[in-house]
Amino acid sequence: MSRVYNFSAGPAVLPEEVLREAAADTLDYKGCGMSVMEMSHRSKMFDDIIKTAESDIRDLMGIPDNYKVLFLQGGASQQFAAVPMNLMKNKKAGYILTGQWAKKAYQEAKLYGEAVELASSADETFSYIPDCSDLPITDDMDYVYICENNTIYGTKFKTLPNTKGKLLVSDVSSCFLSEPVDVSKYGVIYGGVQKNVGPAGMVISIIREDLITDECLPGTPTMLKWKTQADNDSLYNTPPCWTIYICGLVFKWLKNNGGLKGMQEKNEKKAAILYDFLDNSKLFRGTVRKEDRSLMNVPFVTGDEELDKKFVAESKAAGLENLKGHRTVGGMRASIYNAMPIEGVEKLVNFMADFESKNLK
Ligand SMILES: *Cc1c(COP(=O)(O)O)cnc(C)c1O
Repeated sequence: MSRVYNFSAGPAVLPEEVLREAAADTLDYKGCGMSVMEMSHRSKMFDDIIKTAESDIRDLMGIPDNYKVLFLQGGASQQFAAVPMNLMKNKKAGYILTGQWAKKAYQEAKLYGEAVELASSADETFSYIPDCSDLPITDDMDYVYICENNTIYGTKFKTLPNTKGKLLVSDVSSCFLSEPVDVSKYGVIYGGVQKNVGPAGMVISIIREDLITDECLPGTPTMLKWKTQADNDSLYNTPPCWTIYICGLVFKWLKNNGGLKGMQEKNEKKAAILYDFLDNSKLFRGTVRKEDRSLMNVPFVTGDEELDKKFVAESKAAGLENLKGHRTVGGMRASIYNAMPIEGVEKLVNFMADFESKNLK
């Protein structure tokens, strides 16, 4: 068996310990003679799995008691619709456009009400986070929406926007559990888990209790009402059982590895290795304004498309996988999520230095 260093943006690398444990559990989970994939979601066994997962993520993030944690299907994209359906009482909300995922959420919200563009960094290919200290937020807006870490462009909000007292809704898919967070600053935090937490197909939504009501937009499907899901502890219908189980293993792994503070230290160290190299390179350069750089997704280019292609091909041959940039941006992107070991980043940087010495004209 040989594992590569996988820099995929998502689905992405998972901790090796977690994969080994899951493999060992596959034929016989804790002596019950079946795997988690085969057991009833109403069984005592699964009840323990989902309850433990919830209590562990509550510990990790310090989630206050007045917030619900929902494990939902449909991925992050499903919440693009669920957010306006559940929150648009006045049918108006403000969106900060910092990339494709924010734009998709904004376009989806337009199906249900008035979505207002509060700020955008489209003018410079989303390579920075706009100033959000004094946005044109009006009193009738139901919430302000951000995508906190922009997976494709590699930017991250280092300070949250001034929402002028309005609810903040944040998509944290690609920075989920990467550093400590103050949940009380948000109305809703949600993330698709396949970036930094687990297998694809699930979103975890953390929602302040008073926002979970029956007053959804008319026609809201039963499954998309947060109230349905909250009243049934995420078990209204069959949940993604195996995905919840793997996320639970990842939560334990995080707790055993210093929690979110420990992850932040490790993530800062990894990102610094790569950004320091980029800042000193004569061939490669990062594409994001320094103060807005993500710790998770690091896009970079040589400035020469042919050379970029060559880099991607040669890095793959060297066991560094999935470094090709997003199809809309080109170049390269290294996603260095929690489960990427520091050795992977060191190997990448050594490879880049070697490539530079061979290809610099
Ligand atoms: C990947 C991603 C999504 C989409 O997630 P799905 O689970 O595929 O719907 C949404 N937002 C961000 C920030 C992402 O990185």
